Formats: sequence, C-alpha cells, structure tokens
Amino acid sequence: MQAERADRRADSLGHVFLEDVYAIPGGEKVKECIQCGTCSASCPTSYAMDYTPREIIAALRAGMLDRVLKSNTIWLCASCYSCTVRCPSGIKLTDVMYELKRLAIDFDLAPSNVKAPLLSKLFVSIVDKYGRISETELVSKFYLKTNPFNMLGMIPRAYKLFMRRNLPLIPHKIEGTSELKKCAGSMSAPLVSGLQPGSSSGEEN
Ligand code: SF4
Ligand code: SF4
Repeated sequence: MQAERADRRADSLGHVFLEDVYAIPGGEKVKECIQCGTCSASCPTSYAMDYTPREIIAALRAGMLDRVLKSNTIWLCASCYSCTVRCPSGIKLTDVMYELKRLAIDFDLAPSNVKAPLLSKLFVSIVDKYGRISETELVSKFYLKTNPFNMLGMIPRAYKLFMRRNLPLIPHKIEGTSELKKCAGSMSAPLVSGLQPGSSSGEEN
C-alpha cells in the first residue's frame, strides 16, 4: 500500500514540466550541460550511484524527476563540490543535489533503505521544539525508529561524552522557538510549482 502511494506520487512528479526543474535554484543552468562527464569523473562516490551526476543532469533535462528522486544517487552525494568547481558550464550540481534531497523528503520518495530522510525529519522536529538540537534525543529517536539494538554499541561512547558533560540528558530550550519556526517555515517554501507534498493527483489522505 505504501509502495503504491509512493508510485502514485512518483507518477505525479513525472508530469512535472521541465520548467519546474529549472525553478530549482541554479537549476536553469542545467540547460547548459554539454554532457562532458567531468562531474562523474570527479565524483568520489559515483561508482556506487544508480545514476552518475552526468546521468542525473540528463534525466532532469528529460523531465524524469521521479526517476532521479527515487534513485540512491542524491543520498550518496557527499557534498564535496568537486563537480561544481570543475563543471565547464558552471552548473552548481551540488546545490541541485541538495534541492533534490529536499524534494525527495517532501514527497516521501527516497529508497526505503536510505535513512537520511528520517534523520533529517527528526533533526528538524527537535530544532522546532527546542530551537536547537539535542543530540541525546536525536540519536535515541533515530535508533528507536531504525534498529534499537544498534544503540547498545553507542553506550561506551555516550558514557564518555556524558562524563565529560558533552551529552546533556535534559535538552536546553531557547527563547523564541515559535519565531524561529516561522523563519524556518518561510525558508522552506515548496519549490515545484503546481505540485505540493500530499496534494499530488490521486493521492489519498
Ligand atoms: S561537468 Fe557540467 S557540463 Fe559536464 S556533464 Fe557534468 S554537469 Fe554537464
Ligand atoms: S558534490 Fe556530490 S555529486 Fe558532486 S562530486 Fe561531490 S559527491 Fe559527487
């Protein structure tokens, strides 16, 4: 059922016009890609990617945003900026990767074995609540939702951090968390016109 919903969301995204891809900050530069492959050759993690950075650009230009968002490529990007500094067309590929990650999280399209979206959502919810991160709460919630047994391996390190007073058990809440939340909300406005998370055609509530 969940997979069906994800497929419907992906189908909807497949109809996003190429202009919407260009609306991603720096995305219009994608038009100037000459498919030279310098980005793929410079990328330290391309060997493990479903699609190399060059192929990602080609897929975006072909309007196959759904395929891009469901691939593991964007999650293997280590943000090293090698592709960005070497691209002869000045395409800010690293920034495009960041925006694609955000879209994949918004539309819940990341591969199920990729845990980064969960970590990102937990991080944001904790910052919304306290105005800052609580490492203790982040790590606890992450392991409880993935594999609680993995938490056992963290105990010795957590103990050392706790003894050095680097792992507070009670989160510190700043003042003005609601204002901070409003600021953060206004900065994360949807990027893709005409298609909002949770409102894609055929989506069930
Ligand atoms: S280096 Fe730039 S121009 Fe060359 S394939 Fe990559 S994105 Fe396109
Ligand atoms: S920024 Fe990402 S896509 Fe670009 S070279 Fe580095 S790891 Fe590869």
